[in-house]
Amino acid sequence: MARFDAIVVGAGPAGSTAARDLAAAGARVLILDRERFPRYKACAGGIPRRTRSLIPFPIDSVVEETIHLFDISIRDSVRFVSDSGRPFLDMVMRDRFDALLLDEAQKAGAEFRPATQVRSVEESGPAVRVRGEGFEAGGSFLVGADGANSVAARAVGLGAGLGSCAAWEVELRLPPLRRATFDHTVLVELDYRPWGYSWVFPKDGALSVGIVLPEGQGWALKGRLAEYLSRLGLSGATVVSARGHNIRFRREGEAIASARTALAGDAAGLADEFTQEGIVYAIQSGQLAAAEILRASGADGDLRSYERAVDREIAPELHAARILGYISYGILRRLRGPWLGVAPHIGPLWNAFFAVHRGESSYLREMQRIPLLPTLAARRLGLR
Ligand SMILES: Cc1cc2nc3c(=O)[nH]c(=O)nc-3n(C[C@H](O)[C@H](O)[C@H](O)COP(=O)(O)OP(=O)(O)OC[C@H]3O[C@@H](n4cnc5c(N)ncnc54)[C@H](O)[C@@H]3O)c2cc1C
Repeated sequence: MARFDAIVVGAGPAGSTAARDLAAAGARVLILDRERFPRYKACAGGIPRRTRSLIPFPIDSVVEETIHLFDISIRDSVRFVSDSGRPFLDMVMRDRFDALLLDEAQKAGAEFRPATQVRSVEESGPAVRVRGEGFEAGGSFLVGADGANSVAARAVGLGAGLGSCAAWEVELRLPPLRRATFDHTVLVELDYRPWGYSWVFPKDGALSVGIVLPEGQGWALKGRLAEYLSRLGLSGATVVSARGHNIRFRREGEAIASARTALAGDAAGLADEFTQEGIVYAIQSGQLAAAEILRASGADGDLRSYERAVDREIAPELHAARILGYISYGILRRLRGPWLGVAPHIGPLWNAFFAVHRGESSYLREMQRIPLLPTLAARRLGLR
């Protein structure tokens, strides 16, 4: 049986980042994915600009559009556009973006095995063992980066109680003139109950149009998206693909590490509950997992320190995003018309949103500027 310093399950942003950092530090790394790359991933592909500061190589070759305009509406009643002045989001198709990250991991020395569905993971003493169809490998550490339905997490008894929501997306191909009406703009339509939103994220010659709704409303996704497409006048556009996926959220105290396994990205529920974004946290947690494996392998061999690193570096921002999500969807949504009547004129609100996405601020810092509402919201959520 082949033996590695670390085995990474899943070659999304979390897994490829962890594999790259580990291989670059000289570790013998195996990265496994059930798919062959490049592979499609249901995702709006909006990457906050702050993500660039985490990635040590250029990503421009896979950025299909840069976004500085944010178009928000409530059905036909309210619509306004906020301008960030400069890009706050990059648009990628995940097949090309993820293939780039994986390529960098391989260049750093990680060994990639595609089309390998991991079926079981066992942790025993100082070793982990991974099995798939006709395949087996052993290692000292495991990074479970196999997404929201993580086999790795289930196998080692981690990540059991995560919150979740459901999302559905279609990719539409459009003629150039029609596509040009969406240049540099993301559209978000609010007004779903109890919360949710639909979106248009433009790509090269195409649009990603999707919807996210709370847990338990998966049945409504396709119908609501069809209504949204009709409101946009896009019902007749060519659909290239249509796919859904769940997004999971780690809440306080949820275990995401054991002695030899660290869960990263969606496998650990590291998506935010305000925008449902997860790519930036997948990359950040992949980096933390690699750093903690390198530290543990030269010290006590115990990877539980990874959970503390996530609690320190990522959890405060996700905590703030959860409170902001509650304020936006739980409190302000009830005020609906009056709130969105004044919202376009609250410049500091949009400046704060754009600054967070550009990496010039954080949700936590912005929330601390207006402590009263977040404190009340946190109390309603039973949070400290
Ligand atoms: C519709 C939708 C829209 C989204 N839009 C955005 C957005 O605009 N911006 C944003 O930041 N986030 C967005 N997200 C969230 C984002 O997609 C995730 O947070 C992100 O992909 C997490 O990366 P990851 O590496 O943890 O997991 P993934 O990207 O899911 O990668 C997991 C990998 O593991 C592989 N895998 C799974 N099971 C196994 C197995 N048993 N064996 C081997 N391999 C396996 C998969 O093939 C996959 O390649 C969206 C999510 C959805 C569903």
